[in-house]
Amino acid sequence: MKLATKLLLLLLSCPFAAIAQDENVDTAMIARIREQGLHHSQADTIAHYLTDISGPRLTNSPGYRHAVSWCVSTMKKWGLSNVAAEPWGEFGTSWEIQKCYVAMSAPYYHQLIAYPWGWSAGTKGPLSATVVAIPDGDSSAAVKAGASLKGKIVMLTDTFTSIRSAFKPYAIRFNDSDLANLKQQFWATYDEMHPYAAVEAAHKRFLKLLESKGVAAIVTKDYGGRDGSVYADQIDAFERSAHPSVPRIMVSTEDFLRMQRLIGSHVPVKLDVDIRTRFDYSDTKASNVVAEIPGTDPKLKDELVIIGGHLDSWYSGTGATDNAAGCTVMMEVMRILKTLNVQPRRTIRVVLWGGEEQGLYGSYNYVKNHFGDPVTKVVKPGQEKVSAYYNLDNGSGKVRGIFLQENEAVRLIFEKWMAPFTDLDATAVKSGNTGFTDHYTFDIVGIPAFEFIQDPLEYLTRTHHSNMDVYDHLSIPDLQQASTVIASFVYHTAMRDEKLPRKPMPKPEPWLFEGF
Ligand SMILES: [Zn+2]
Repeated sequence: MKLATKLLLLLLSCPFAAIAQDENVDTAMIARIREQGLHHSQADTIAHYLTDISGPRLTNSPGYRHAVSWCVSTMKKWGLSNVAAEPWGEFGTSWEIQKCYVAMSAPYYHQLIAYPWGWSAGTKGPLSATVVAIPDGDSSAAVKAGASLKGKIVMLTDTFTSIRSAFKPYAIRFNDSDLANLKQQFWATYDEMHPYAAVEAAHKRFLKLLESKGVAAIVTKDYGGRDGSVYADQIDAFERSAHPSVPRIMVSTEDFLRMQRLIGSHVPVKLDVDIRTRFDYSDTKASNVVAEIPGTDPKLKDELVIIGGHLDSWYSGTGATDNAAGCTVMMEVMRILKTLNVQPRRTIRVVLWGGEEQGLYGSYNYVKNHFGDPVTKVVKPGQEKVSAYYNLDNGSGKVRGIFLQENEAVRLIFEKWMAPFTDLDATAVKSGNTGFTDHYTFDIVGIPAFEFIQDPLEYLTRTHHSNMDVYDHLSIPDLQQASTVIASFVYHTAMRDEKLPRKPMPKPEPWLFEGF
Protein backbone atom coordinates (compact mmCIF):
# COMPACT_ATOMS: atom_id res chain seq x y z
CA MET A 1 0.00 0.00 0.00
CA LYS A 2 1.30 3.43 -0.85
CA LEU A 3 1.77 5.90 1.95
CA ALA A 4 -0.77 8.32 0.44
CA THR A 5 -3.44 5.61 0.51
CA LYS A 6 -2.60 4.76 4.10
CA LEU A 7 -2.91 8.39 5.12
CA LEU A 8 -6.27 8.71 3.39
CA LEU A 9 -7.59 5.68 5.28
CA LEU A 10 -6.32 7.14 8.55
CA LEU A 11 -7.97 10.47 7.79
CA LEU A 12 -11.29 8.76 7.20
CA SER A 13 -11.05 6.73 10.41
CA CYS A 14 -9.97 9.41 12.91
CA PRO A 15 -12.04 12.34 14.22
CA PHE A 16 -9.13 14.78 13.90
CA ALA A 17 -11.24 17.90 13.95
CA ALA A 18 -12.76 16.99 17.30
CA ILE A 19 -9.33 16.25 18.78
CA ALA A 20 -7.93 19.59 17.62
CA GLN A 21 -10.83 21.68 18.92
CA ASP A 22 -10.81 20.07 22.34
CA GLU A 23 -7.05 20.15 22.76
CA ASN A 24 -6.25 22.20 25.80
CA VAL A 25 -3.25 24.53 25.70
CA ASP A 26 -2.32 25.85 29.13
CA THR A 27 -0.96 29.30 28.28
CA ALA A 28 -0.35 30.24 31.92
CA MET A 29 1.80 27.14 32.43
CA ILE A 30 3.63 27.79 29.15
CA ALA A 31 4.51 31.28 30.38
CA ARG A 32 5.95 29.81 33.59
CA ILE A 33 7.89 27.14 31.67
CA ARG A 34 9.32 29.80 29.34
CA GLU A 35 10.42 31.96 32.27
CA GLN A 36 12.15 29.03 33.99
CA GLY A 37 13.59 27.44 30.83
CA LEU A 38 14.83 30.59 29.11
CA HIS A 39 15.77 32.84 32.04
CA HIS A 40 16.73 30.49 34.89
CA SER A 41 18.23 27.66 32.87
CA GLN A 42 20.85 25.31 34.27
CA ALA A 43 21.63 23.76 30.89
CA ASP A 44 25.19 25.14 30.89
CA THR A 45 25.98 23.61 34.31
CA ILE A 46 24.43 20.24 33.48
CA ALA A 47 26.31 20.08 30.16
CA HIS A 48 29.59 21.05 31.86
CA TYR A 49 29.25 18.21 34.39
CA LEU A 50 28.28 15.65 31.74
CA THR A 51 31.17 16.57 29.42
CA ASP A 52 34.15 18.36 30.97
CA ILE A 53 33.84 16.76 34.39
CA SER A 54 32.70 13.22 33.53
CA GLY A 55 34.92 13.02 30.44
CA PRO A 56 34.31 10.53 27.63
CA ARG A 57 31.35 8.28 28.43
CA LEU A 58 31.84 5.07 26.48
CA THR A 59 29.35 2.62 28.02
CA ASN A 60 30.71 1.03 31.21
CA SER A 61 33.88 3.16 31.15
CA PRO A 62 34.86 5.10 34.28
CA GLY A 63 33.57 8.29 32.59
CA TYR A 64 30.18 6.70 31.91
CA ARG A 65 29.89 5.49 35.49
CA HIS A 66 30.88 8.91 36.80
CA ALA A 67 28.13 10.49 34.72
CA VAL A 68 25.58 7.92 35.93
CA SER A 69 26.30 8.66 39.57
CA TRP A 70 26.36 12.43 38.99
CA CYS A 71 22.96 12.30 37.25
CA VAL A 72 21.50 10.17 40.06
CA SER A 73 22.76 12.44 42.84
CA THR A 74 21.81 15.64 40.97
CA MET A 75 18.27 14.53 40.21
CA LYS A 76 17.87 13.39 43.85
CA LYS A 77 18.96 16.88 44.93
CA TRP A 78 16.33 18.39 42.69
CA GLY A 79 13.72 16.37 44.61
CA LEU A 80 12.76 14.00 41.81
CA SER A 81 11.30 10.63 42.83
CA ASN A 82 12.44 7.05 42.27
CA VAL A 83 15.87 8.21 41.08
CA ALA A 84 18.13 5.24 40.37
CA ALA A 85 20.70 3.65 38.13
CA GLU A 86 18.62 0.79 36.76
CA PRO A 87 20.61 -2.17 35.44
CA TRP A 88 19.45 -3.45 32.07
CA GLY A 89 21.60 -6.53 31.74
CA GLU A 90 24.85 -7.62 30.20
CA PHE A 91 26.81 -5.12 28.09
CA GLY A 92 30.51 -5.94 28.07
CA THR A 93 33.98 -4.91 29.04
CA SER A 94 34.80 -1.59 30.64
CA TRP A 95 37.53 0.05 28.55
CA GLU A 96 39.35 3.36 28.56
CA ILE A 97 42.40 5.02 27.01
CA GLN A 98 45.06 5.84 29.59
CA LYS A 99 47.76 7.03 27.21
CA CYS A 100 47.96 7.65 23.48
CA TYR A 101 51.11 8.95 21.83
CA VAL A 102 51.54 8.51 18.07
CA ALA A 103 54.22 10.43 16.16
CA MET A 104 56.15 10.12 12.92
CA SER A 105 59.88 9.78 13.68
CA ALA A 106 61.08 9.46 10.06
CA PRO A 107 61.59 11.13 7.64
CA TYR A 108 61.18 13.87 10.30
CA TYR A 109 59.29 14.42 13.54
CA HIS A 110 55.57 15.09 13.37
CA GLN A 111 53.01 14.37 16.07
CA LEU A 112 49.85 12.76 14.69
CA ILE A 113 46.25 13.32 15.71
CA ALA A 114 45.45 9.73 16.53
CA TYR A 115 43.20 7.55 18.70
CA PRO A 116 43.03 3.81 19.26
CA TRP A 117 39.89 2.08 18.03
CA GLY A 118 37.37 1.36 20.78
CA TRP A 119 38.35 -1.67 22.88
CA SER A 120 41.74 -1.77 21.12
CA ALA A 121 44.76 -3.36 22.73
CA GLY A 122 47.64 -1.13 23.80
CA THR A 123 51.27 -1.41 22.71
CA LYS A 124 52.75 -2.88 25.92
CA GLY A 125 55.20 0.02 26.11
CA PRO A 126 56.84 2.30 23.54
CA LEU A 127 57.04 0.89 20.04
CA SER A 128 59.02 2.17 17.05
CA ALA A 129 58.49 0.55 13.65
CA THR A 130 58.48 1.12 9.91
CA VAL A 131 55.13 1.74 8.21
CA VAL A 132 54.01 -0.47 5.33
CA ALA A 133 51.01 0.39 3.13
CA ILE A 134 48.53 -2.33 2.17
CA PRO A 135 45.27 -1.63 0.31
CA ASP A 136 42.42 -1.94 2.81
CA GLY A 137 40.67 -5.28 2.48
CA ASP A 138 43.20 -6.70 0.00
CA SER A 139 43.81 -10.14 1.50
CA SER A 140 45.94 -11.31 -1.41
CA ALA A 141 48.33 -8.37 -0.89
CA ALA A 142 48.58 -9.28 2.79
CA VAL A 143 49.20 -12.95 2.00
CA LYS A 144 51.80 -12.00 -0.62
CA ALA A 145 53.65 -9.69 1.81
CA GLY A 146 53.67 -12.64 4.25
CA ALA A 147 56.52 -12.70 6.76
CA SER A 148 57.77 -9.25 5.69
CA LEU A 149 54.86 -7.73 7.68
CA LYS A 150 56.17 -9.11 10.98
CA GLY A 151 56.93 -6.28 13.40
CA LYS A 152 55.77 -3.61 10.95
CA ILE A 153 53.03 -1.04 11.36
CA VAL A 154 50.54 -1.60 8.54
CA MET A 155 48.56 1.34 7.22
CA LEU A 156 45.44 0.46 5.28
CA THR A 157 45.13 2.64 2.19
CA ASP A 158 42.18 3.19 -0.13
CA THR A 159 41.32 5.24 -3.17
CA PHE A 160 40.71 8.44 -1.22
CA THR A 161 43.79 10.61 -1.79
CA SER A 162 42.92 14.27 -1.30
CA ILE A 163 40.77 16.74 0.61
CA ARG A 164 39.02 19.56 -1.19
CA SER A 165 38.69 23.04 0.25
CA ALA A 166 35.60 23.48 2.41
CA PHE A 167 33.47 26.06 0.64
CA LYS A 168 30.35 25.34 2.66
CA PRO A 169 29.99 26.39 6.28
CA TYR A 170 30.18 23.60 8.83
CA ALA A 171 27.17 24.83 10.75
CA ILE A 172 23.76 25.48 9.27
CA ARG A 173 20.27 26.22 10.49
CA PHE A 174 17.18 25.14 8.59
CA ASN A 175 15.49 27.92 6.65
CA ASP A 176 11.75 27.82 5.94
CA SER A 177 12.10 25.91 2.70
CA ASP A 178 14.52 23.39 4.27
CA LEU A 179 11.90 22.72 6.93
CA ALA A 180 9.07 22.55 4.40
CA ASN A 181 10.97 19.99 2.33
CA LEU A 182 12.32 17.96 5.23
CA LYS A 183 11.14 14.38 4.98
CA GLN A 184 13.43 12.57 7.36
CA GLN A 185 16.64 13.06 9.27
CA PHE A 186 19.37 10.47 9.62
CA TRP A 187 17.22 7.59 8.47
CA ALA A 188 18.44 4.56 6.59
CA THR A 189 16.45 1.64 5.33
CA TYR A 190 17.07 -2.04 5.71
CA ASP A 191 18.23 -2.24 2.11
CA GLU A 192 20.73 0.57 2.65
CA MET A 193 22.14 -0.74 5.89
CA HIS A 194 22.01 -4.51 5.68
CA PRO A 195 24.83 -5.07 3.13
CA TYR A 196 27.08 -3.06 5.42
CA ALA A 197 27.07 -5.88 8.00
CA ALA A 198 28.55 -8.29 5.45
CA VAL A 199 31.24 -5.76 4.48
CA GLU A 200 32.08 -5.28 8.15
CA ALA A 201 32.41 -9.03 8.74
CA ALA A 202 34.75 -9.36 5.75
CA HIS A 203 36.83 -6.47 7.07
CA LYS A 204 37.14 -8.10 10.48
CA ARG A 205 38.46 -11.25 8.80
CA PHE A 206 41.01 -9.15 6.90
CA LEU A 207 42.23 -7.49 10.12
CA LYS A 208 42.57 -10.91 11.78
CA LEU A 209 44.65 -12.04 8.80
CA LEU A 210 47.02 -9.10 9.34
CA GLU A 211 47.27 -9.93 13.05
CA SER A 212 48.19 -13.49 12.14
CA LYS A 213 51.15 -12.10 10.15
CA GLY A 214 52.62 -10.62 13.34
CA VAL A 215 52.11 -6.93 12.54
CA ALA A 216 52.95 -4.53 15.38
CA ALA A 217 49.97 -2.22 14.86
CA ILE A 218 47.32 -1.39 12.27
CA VAL A 219 46.75 2.22 11.24
CA THR A 220 43.51 3.26 9.58
CA LYS A 221 42.25 6.50 8.18
CA ASP A 222 39.46 8.38 9.78
CA TYR A 223 36.22 7.81 7.87
CA GLY A 224 35.22 11.22 6.58
CA GLY A 225 36.86 13.61 9.05
CA ARG A 226 38.90 16.61 8.04
CA ASP A 227 40.57 19.67 9.52
CA GLY A 228 41.76 17.63 12.48
CA SER A 229 38.38 16.10 13.27
CA VAL A 230 38.68 12.35 13.75
CA TYR A 231 35.48 10.30 13.78
CA ALA A 232 36.78 7.73 16.23
CA ASP A 233 33.90 5.28 16.40
CA GLN A 234 35.47 2.10 15.08
CA ILE A 235 35.32 -1.01 17.20
CA ASP A 236 35.87 -4.68 16.70
CA ALA A 237 34.22 -6.20 19.76
CA PHE A 238 33.39 -5.18 23.28
CA GLU A 239 32.47 -8.65 24.49
CA ARG A 240 34.97 -10.20 26.83
CA SER A 241 37.49 -12.51 25.12
CA ALA A 242 36.80 -11.14 21.63
CA HIS A 243 39.16 -8.16 21.69
CA PRO A 244 41.85 -7.86 19.00
CA SER A 245 45.39 -8.53 20.22
CA VAL A 246 47.13 -5.91 18.03
CA PRO A 247 46.62 -2.15 18.54
CA ARG A 248 44.40 -0.50 15.94
CA ILE A 249 44.93 3.20 15.51
CA MET A 250 42.84 5.75 13.67
CA VAL A 251 44.66 8.88 12.50
CA SER A 252 43.33 12.12 11.08
CA THR A 253 42.77 12.22 7.35
CA GLU A 254 45.49 14.83 6.80
CA ASP A 255 48.10 12.86 8.78
CA PHE A 256 47.13 9.69 6.98
CA LEU A 257 47.35 11.20 3.51
CA ARG A 258 50.79 12.69 4.23
CA MET A 259 52.17 9.26 5.20
CA GLN A 260 50.47 7.69 2.19
CA ARG A 261 52.12 10.21 -0.18
CA LEU A 262 55.55 9.72 1.47
CA ILE A 263 55.36 5.94 1.11
CA GLY A 264 54.11 6.40 -2.46
CA SER A 265 57.29 8.38 -3.14
CA HIS A 266 59.39 5.58 -1.57
CA VAL A 267 60.35 7.72 1.43
CA PRO A 268 60.59 5.41 4.48
CA VAL A 269 58.12 6.35 7.23
CA LYS A 270 58.58 5.31 10.87
CA LEU A 271 56.15 5.78 13.74
CA ASP A 272 56.71 5.94 17.48
CA VAL A 273 53.64 4.61 19.27
CA ASP A 274 52.89 4.32 22.96
CA ILE A 275 49.29 3.37 23.73
CA ARG A 276 47.95 2.14 27.03
CA THR A 277 44.35 0.98 27.25
CA ARG A 278 42.66 -0.43 30.32
CA PHE A 279 40.28 -3.37 30.25
CA ASP A 280 38.17 -4.13 33.32
CA TYR A 281 36.07 -7.28 33.37
CA SER A 282 34.88 -6.92 36.98
CA ASP A 283 31.41 -5.61 36.10
CA THR A 284 30.11 -6.21 32.59
CA LYS A 285 26.51 -5.22 33.34
CA ALA A 286 25.33 -1.71 32.47
CA SER A 287 22.66 0.70 33.70
CA ASN A 288 20.34 3.45 32.52
CA VAL A 289 19.47 6.39 34.79
CA VAL A 290 15.80 6.79 35.76
CA ALA A 291 13.93 9.58 37.63
CA GLU A 292 10.29 10.59 37.97
CA ILE A 293 7.75 13.24 38.82
CA PRO A 294 4.86 11.09 40.09
CA GLY A 295 1.42 11.49 38.62
CA THR A 296 -1.34 12.85 40.86
CA ASP A 297 -4.59 11.85 39.15
CA PRO A 298 -5.89 8.68 40.88
CA LYS A 299 -7.05 7.29 37.53
CA LEU A 300 -4.05 8.31 35.42
CA LYS A 301 -1.02 8.28 37.73
CA ASP A 302 -0.04 4.76 36.65
CA GLU A 303 0.26 6.00 33.08
CA LEU A 304 3.57 7.33 31.84
CA VAL A 305 5.08 10.06 29.73
CA ILE A 306 8.69 9.05 29.18
CA ILE A 307 11.50 11.25 27.88
CA GLY A 308 15.13 10.42 27.21
CA GLY A 309 18.43 10.74 25.46
CA HIS A 310 21.55 8.60 25.57
CA LEU A 311 24.14 9.21 28.23
CA ASP A 312 26.84 7.10 26.64
CA SER A 313 29.19 8.56 24.05
CA TRP A 314 32.24 7.69 21.98
CA TYR A 315 35.63 8.35 23.52
CA SER A 316 37.80 10.81 21.57
CA GLY A 317 35.75 13.84 22.62
CA THR A 318 33.40 14.16 25.56
CA GLY A 319 30.20 13.33 23.70
CA ALA A 320 28.87 16.87 23.97
CA THR A 321 26.52 17.03 21.00
CA ASP A 322 26.11 13.24 20.97
CA ASN A 323 24.48 13.13 23.33
CA ALA A 324 25.19 15.17 26.44
CA ALA A 325 23.06 17.76 24.62
CA GLY A 326 19.98 15.51 24.65
CA CYS A 327 20.56 14.42 28.26
CA THR A 328 21.10 18.03 29.33
CA VAL A 329 17.80 19.04 27.75
CA MET A 330 15.82 16.12 29.17
CA MET A 331 17.29 16.61 32.67
CA GLU A 332 16.55 20.32 32.37
CA VAL A 333 12.94 19.50 31.38
CA MET A 334 12.60 17.55 34.63
CA ARG A 335 14.24 20.36 36.63
CA ILE A 336 11.95 22.98 35.10
CA LEU A 337 8.79 20.99 35.80
CA LYS A 338 9.90 20.07 39.34
CA THR A 339 10.91 23.66 40.11
CA LEU A 340 7.48 24.83 38.96
CA ASN A 341 5.98 22.19 41.27
CA VAL A 342 3.73 20.91 38.52
CA GLN A 343 1.25 18.25 39.58
CA PRO A 344 1.04 16.11 36.44
CA ARG A 345 -1.92 13.79 36.08
CA ARG A 346 0.32 11.09 34.57
CA THR A 347 3.78 10.18 35.87
CA ILE A 348 6.61 11.87 33.99
CA ARG A 349 9.75 9.71 33.77
CA VAL A 350 13.15 10.52 32.31
CA VAL A 351 15.49 7.70 31.29
CA LEU A 352 19.07 8.38 30.21
CA TRP A 353 20.26 5.45 28.13
CA GLY A 354 23.51 3.51 27.99
CA GLY A 355 24.80 1.40 25.12
CA GLU A 356 23.12 3.47 22.40
CA GLU A 357 26.24 3.88 20.31
CA GLN A 358 26.87 0.18 19.96
CA GLY A 359 23.26 -0.62 19.03
CA LEU A 360 20.51 0.92 21.22
CA TYR A 361 21.24 -1.69 23.91
CA GLY A 362 20.07 0.38 26.91
CA SER A 363 16.69 1.34 25.51
CA TYR A 364 16.18 -2.03 23.80
CA ASN A 365 16.63 -3.90 27.06
CA TYR A 366 14.61 -1.35 29.04
CA VAL A 367 11.69 -1.69 26.62
CA LYS A 368 12.05 -5.47 26.68
CA ASN A 369 12.10 -5.52 30.50
CA HIS A 370 9.09 -3.21 30.93
CA PHE A 371 6.93 -3.00 27.82
CA GLY A 372 7.45 -5.76 25.29
CA ASP A 373 9.88 -7.68 23.14
CA PRO A 374 10.98 -5.61 20.12
CA VAL A 375 11.68 -8.78 18.13
CA THR A 376 8.70 -11.04 18.91
CA LYS A 377 6.31 -8.08 19.50
CA VAL A 378 4.84 -9.85 22.53
CA VAL A 379 3.88 -6.90 24.74
CA LYS A 380 3.59 -6.65 28.53
CA PRO A 381 0.71 -4.93 30.38
CA GLY A 382 2.94 -1.86 30.88
CA GLN A 383 2.94 -1.17 27.13
CA GLU A 384 -0.66 0.10 27.34
CA LYS A 385 0.28 2.53 30.11
CA VAL A 386 2.75 4.66 28.13
CA SER A 387 1.15 7.66 26.47
CA ALA A 388 4.33 8.76 24.66
CA TYR A 389 8.09 8.57 24.55
CA TYR A 390 10.00 11.69 23.44
CA ASN A 391 13.68 11.48 22.48
CA LEU A 392 16.35 14.05 21.69
CA ASP A 393 19.53 12.93 19.94
CA ASN A 394 20.33 15.04 16.91
CA GLY A 395 22.96 17.36 18.32
CA SER A 396 22.91 20.74 20.00
CA GLY A 397 20.54 22.56 17.64
CA LYS A 398 17.31 24.09 18.84
CA VAL A 399 14.00 22.33 18.30
CA ARG A 400 12.46 23.32 14.95
CA GLY A 401 9.60 20.84 15.09
CA ILE A 402 8.76 17.18 15.50
CA PHE A 403 8.40 14.13 13.28
CA LEU A 404 5.12 12.26 13.54
CA GLN A 405 6.89 8.89 13.15
CA GLU A 406 4.14 7.95 10.68
CA ASN A 407 1.46 8.52 13.33
CA GLU A 408 -0.82 11.00 11.54
CA ALA A 409 -3.37 10.80 14.34
CA VAL A 410 -1.25 13.06 16.55
CA ARG A 411 -0.69 15.75 13.92
CA LEU A 412 -3.36 18.22 15.02
CA ILE A 413 -2.50 17.70 18.69
CA PHE A 414 1.15 18.46 18.07
CA GLU A 415 0.31 21.44 15.88
CA LYS A 416 -1.66 22.93 18.77
CA TRP A 417 1.19 22.29 21.21
CA MET A 418 3.81 23.65 18.83
CA ALA A 419 1.89 26.86 17.98
CA PRO A 420 2.88 28.81 21.13
CA PHE A 421 6.56 28.45 20.18
CA THR A 422 6.56 30.05 16.73
CA ASP A 423 8.56 32.98 18.12
CA LEU A 424 11.24 30.51 19.22
CA ASP A 425 11.38 29.05 15.67
CA ALA A 426 9.72 25.74 16.62
CA THR A 427 7.02 25.30 14.00
CA ALA A 428 7.24 22.10 11.98
CA VAL A 429 5.02 19.06 12.51
CA LYS A 430 6.14 16.69 9.81
CA SER A 431 5.10 13.32 8.59
CA GLY A 432 7.98 10.95 8.23
CA ASN A 433 10.36 9.65 10.79
CA THR A 434 13.92 9.79 11.92
CA GLY A 435 16.50 7.34 13.15
CA PHE A 436 18.48 5.66 14.50
CA THR A 437 18.15 6.33 18.11
CA ASP A 438 16.30 5.28 21.22
CA HIS A 439 12.74 6.26 20.31
CA TYR A 440 12.89 3.46 17.76
CA THR A 441 12.83 0.72 20.41
CA PHE A 442 9.57 2.18 21.79
CA ASP A 443 8.10 2.73 18.34
CA ILE A 444 8.76 -0.86 17.38
CA VAL A 445 6.60 -2.22 20.26
CA GLY A 446 3.69 0.07 19.39
CA ILE A 447 4.28 2.92 21.87
CA PRO A 448 3.89 6.42 20.36
CA ALA A 449 7.52 7.56 20.18
CA PHE A 450 8.91 10.73 18.70
CA GLU A 451 12.18 12.48 17.91
CA PHE A 452 12.23 16.27 17.69
CA ILE A 453 13.56 18.01 14.59
CA GLN A 454 16.66 20.06 15.44
CA ASP A 455 18.78 22.56 13.57
CA PRO A 456 21.77 20.55 12.31
CA LEU A 457 24.40 23.15 13.34
CA GLU A 458 27.72 21.31 12.77
CA TYR A 459 26.55 17.90 13.97
CA LEU A 460 27.29 15.80 10.91
CA THR A 461 30.06 18.01 9.52
CA ARG A 462 32.18 18.35 12.63
CA THR A 463 31.15 16.85 15.96
CA HIS A 464 29.18 13.59 15.57
CA HIS A 465 31.41 10.86 17.13
CA SER A 466 34.51 13.04 16.72
CA ASN A 467 37.33 14.38 18.89
CA MET A 468 35.70 17.80 18.42
CA ASP A 469 32.52 16.68 20.17
CA VAL A 470 33.27 18.78 23.23
CA TYR A 471 31.50 21.39 25.36
CA ASP A 472 32.72 24.27 23.18
CA HIS A 473 30.66 22.98 20.26
CA LEU A 474 27.42 23.11 22.24
CA SER A 475 25.04 25.99 21.70
CA ILE A 476 23.65 26.63 25.18
CA PRO A 477 20.88 29.02 23.99
CA ASP A 478 19.69 26.28 21.63
CA LEU A 479 19.57 23.80 24.52
CA GLN A 480 17.57 26.29 26.60
CA GLN A 481 15.07 26.70 23.78
CA ALA A 482 14.79 22.91 23.37
CA SER A 483 14.23 22.40 27.11
CA THR A 484 11.44 24.97 27.08
CA VAL A 485 9.58 23.57 24.08
CA ILE A 486 9.92 19.96 25.23
CA ALA A 487 8.89 20.74 28.83
CA SER A 488 5.64 22.13 27.45
CA PHE A 489 5.08 19.08 25.22
CA VAL A 490 5.72 16.75 28.15
CA TYR A 491 3.44 18.73 30.46
CA HIS A 492 0.57 18.73 27.99
CA THR A 493 1.01 15.00 27.31
CA ALA A 494 0.85 14.34 31.05
CA MET A 495 -2.26 16.49 31.56
CA ARG A 496 -4.32 15.37 28.57
CA ASP A 497 -7.59 13.50 29.25
CA GLU A 498 -6.62 10.70 26.89
CA LYS A 499 -3.30 9.07 26.08
CA LEU A 500 -1.92 10.02 22.69
CA PRO A 501 -3.51 8.08 19.83
CA ARG A 502 -1.52 5.12 18.54
CA LYS A 503 -0.68 3.90 15.08
CA PRO A 504 -0.84 0.20 14.21
CA MET A 505 2.07 -1.89 15.51
CA PRO A 506 4.94 -1.26 13.06
CA LYS A 507 6.55 -4.07 11.16
CA PRO A 508 9.97 -5.08 12.48
CA GLU A 509 13.15 -3.98 10.75
CA PRO A 510 14.68 -7.46 10.80
CA TRP A 511 18.30 -6.43 10.68
CA LEU A 512 18.30 -3.88 13.50
CA PHE A 513 18.17 -6.26 16.41
CA GLU A 514 20.14 -9.11 14.91
CA GLY A 515 22.42 -10.60 17.51
CA PHE A 516 20.53 -9.27 20.55
ZN1 LIG B 1 23.57 9.84 19.58
